[in-house]
Amino acid sequence: MTTTDRLLGQLRDRIRGAWDTGPLFVDPIIEPGLTDRQRSAVETATGEAATLGFPVFVALVPPIGYRYQDEWDAFTADLAYEMFDQTGADTTLVLFSEAESAARSKGYVVDENGPAVPPNSDQLQVSSTGDFLPVELAVPFHLTTLVAAAKGDPLPPLPDFDPVDVGDDNGDYIEATGVDRGDPDGIVFAATSLAALGLTAWVLTRRTRYRWKATLTTAPELVRSHRLVPEVTRALEPFPEPRSADDSRWEIRDRGLRVQRAIEAITAAHPDWAKSPDHSHRQAILALVRTDRALRALVSRDRPSSAEALPAFCYFFPAHEKPVESIAWKQSGTVLTIDACRTCIADLDAGHDPVCLMVPKNPDAPSSSPVPYFRRDDAYALSGFGSFTALEDAIADLGVPGAGATMRTGDRR
Ligand SMILES: [Zn+2]
Repeated sequence: MTTTDRLLGQLRDRIRGAWDTGPLFVDPIIEPGLTDRQRSAVETATGEAATLGFPVFVALVPPIGYRYQDEWDAFTADLAYEMFDQTGADTTLVLFSEAESAARSKGYVVDENGPAVPPNSDQLQVSSTGDFLPVELAVPFHLTTLVAAAKGDPLPPLPDFDPVDVGDDNGDYIEATGVDRGDPDGIVFAATSLAALGLTAWVLTRRTRYRWKATLTTAPELVRSHRLVPEVTRALEPFPEPRSADDSRWEIRDRGLRVQRAIEAITAAHPDWAKSPDHSHRQAILALVRTDRALRALVSRDRPSSAEALPAFCYFFPAHEKPVESIAWKQSGTVLTIDACRTCIADLDAGHDPVCLMVPKNPDAPSSSPVPYFRRDDAYALSGFGSFTALEDAIADLGVPGAGATMRTGDRR
């Protein structure tokens, strides 16, 4: 761990500790340097913004060295996303401002696609006369901009600020960042562009990473690559009878029959399963024909041992190919034990949401908005494709998603 990581980690703990009790964090390191007017302007603006319908979090921090801007971009955007995640609101507004005579700020509107920066929210916000805003003006301006962006309202005009006591327009910025004087205009231009570029690139990466959340799952292609149509025909051939009276073999055969009934139910309820907009039917067929193959192999084996031979499916994306393992997944205050593949576990370890199987929110309405399949209330969701209960048993109990109540597969054996 580098010194930067350690210091950012400490700052993160201070900010999170304060945000647990209120919307405003003022770093104790800079607090004595704030004037009463600055302090009250920031408090008032934060308090007002917090009444406008969105969770709001503001942090006043010490100046962050220019060479740490990449880390600072990632740090602020990640922390903003974390706060969004914690509030559970559709949109959360998060503002970081370096408390200096020229306040460099990062304001985020965070929704489930990740943090976004409003169009006219410059990190080094200038006034209508081109002067960099001090913190007592920058914070109210950025909060107004964030609220307007979140509501879809017109963004506010630049504030009036024309410091008579600053001889050089850019002097306060130079002083604030410690950049050597020489060609102030050139340096400020380069620095501002770089900062804007770095942040935009990072935020874009973040939003691209979560783009899958906005669309229904359409890939990977499963029908041809896994020969699902002939596999369905094969799986529906009579399930072999065990050659001995051994109970465990008859249990395997009973399960094989339940799997067959589940396949029949899905294909009957959704004759278009192979090209339905709802990818979950294809993933269910894939899971069931794989289970069928494993059960057929087991029933004819000398010493059947189902624990090792039956396939398990990734909870987040059942068609994932990598081996799965059982993990404890913390989710809004609860812990679920699920099967997840290596790719998804690596995403979770890195603090990202794994790419989920996205399906229409209403299984009866293919054009409804995309949600992770496990947010629905149907057989796929409640089985977790095997993480919680066997898929074929959930289909027997609850019917096929999107088929109404009439497509039950009948009594379970
Ligand atoms: Zn996975």
